[in-house]
Amino acid sequence: MTFPESDKQYIEDIEPLRVAVIGSGPAGIYAAEALTRQQQVPVHVDIMDRLPTPYGLVRYGVAPDHLKIKGVVRALRQVLEHPDVHFLGGVEFGTDLSRADLARTHHAVVYATGAAVDRRMGIPGEDLPGSFAATDFVNWYCAHPDSALDQFVLNSEEVAVVGAGNVAIDVARILLKGADELSHTDIPQPVLDVLASGRVRTVHLLARRGPLQAKFTSPELRELLSLPGVDVDVRAEQIDLDPATVDAGELGAGRLSRAVRTNLKLLREHVDPPAREGPRTLRLHFWTRPLEVQGDENGVSGLRVERTRLASDGSLVGTGKTAELDVGMVLRSVGYASVPLPEVAFDDRSRTVPQEEGRVLDAKGDVVRGDYVVGWIKRGPSGVIGTNKSDAAATIRSLLEDAPALREAAGELLPLEKVLDEHGPVVRSNYQDWLRIDAEEARQAEELGRGERVKLHGWHAYRRVLDGH
Ligand code: NAP
Repeated sequence: MTFPESDKQYIEDIEPLRVAVIGSGPAGIYAAEALTRQQQVPVHVDIMDRLPTPYGLVRYGVAPDHLKIKGVVRALRQVLEHPDVHFLGGVEFGTDLSRADLARTHHAVVYATGAAVDRRMGIPGEDLPGSFAATDFVNWYCAHPDSALDQFVLNSEEVAVVGAGNVAIDVARILLKGADELSHTDIPQPVLDVLASGRVRTVHLLARRGPLQAKFTSPELRELLSLPGVDVDVRAEQIDLDPATVDAGELGAGRLSRAVRTNLKLLREHVDPPAREGPRTLRLHFWTRPLEVQGDENGVSGLRVERTRLASDGSLVGTGKTAELDVGMVLRSVGYASVPLPEVAFDDRSRTVPQEEGRVLDAKGDVVRGDYVVGWIKRGPSGVIGTNKSDAAATIRSLLEDAPALREAAGELLPLEKVLDEHGPVVRSNYQDWLRIDAEEARQAEELGRGERVKLHGWHAYRRVLDGH
């Protein structure tokens, strides 16, 4: 888009619209990008994160062996290096900075805090030692600083992964791959050592519904089914289609999506496999739901499961046919959930912030002036990274429409640093600090002869770099 010279002069003369973005994952960074790309108003964007490291789930969620997906960082980095964008790490919304503080420093706030916690299965034994959220396992191998290095020992031969989404596939794949295959990734060295000495031989993947209802995508399923040295065990009766689908003739009528048909074809290629040879086995159990994690304070000793089916109204029901899986660890991968933000309305049922076109609504359904939302906390934990780009652009369109009113409502704004200082010694870091962590991770990779980066693990490791030791 080109603007007449007179307009350009006008844009340069007015004070930038100051926008705070809370959360530096893809959704937050895409919101900043949408703000810097438009030419209606000059902007000053502060992207804040609780952590000293940007990129959210791209750094702490995308599987370490998915290097191509992680490559999105190159584009996100350009946004963080835009002159109108400023990264501030080590600042927690609600603790180090309140909404009232931000009203004194910015015209608008965009919440982009994602979905930080796991959902639960709601079955007995879920909290036994050895029963974990997949997010715990992901955080561990992705080196999230909140996760403890010694949280996983992997001394069981059989592990159950509950859920049929892409996260379940990620954790199953990491458990099944040999440490050699992961050595070129950014997995921290102590984590790689645990994976190398782990005793896992069989991973059971449990889907409570059938192959047509599974949430995982075809490329991820194809990759899982073709891991070298891994036998895939899937029984014909496990990938039965539900009678309603068969009756409706959906397969014949071509009403299934291409992805679902591809998934089915991939699974059928593996039905009733020949005698096992590989060192590891992936066992797929569709139409199987967990009933109870068995064990005691010493750990998990099994998982009781039930065969399921769809009732005529489409709801999931148990058949009463139960079985026990002889597993020593259970990872529930049944979806992420967002965490309510202080002073921001939250819908407990959808676990999202109520909003209209990206504008946050209060408990009465009225628009909260100056508050916007993007990403998973806006629409729930779904979609791929790129989904956040159009989602953020839509929210920023609303924000820009509101810009004149936001300017009018704001008094004279104070510098963010000044308001942060009022809270005492908040430990914060900037983009240059992140680049030092980044460089240290590259140095470690070189020293260990492993790929482009080996991640630091734990707050103490970040602090050492930030303190210059
Ligand atoms: P998800 O796609 O929503 O899958 C959650 C799975 O858990 C579903 O199969 C669901 O079954 C099952 N489930 C829910 N409650 C259950 C219960 N009580 N007992 C048994 N099973 C239960 O979530 P996700 O795997 O966490 O992924 C989140 C998002 O990140 C998705 O959009 C995903 O595609 C994306 N992601 C993408 C990649 C990639 O592109 N490589 C990698 C990781 C994540 P029902 O369908 O029956 O509810």
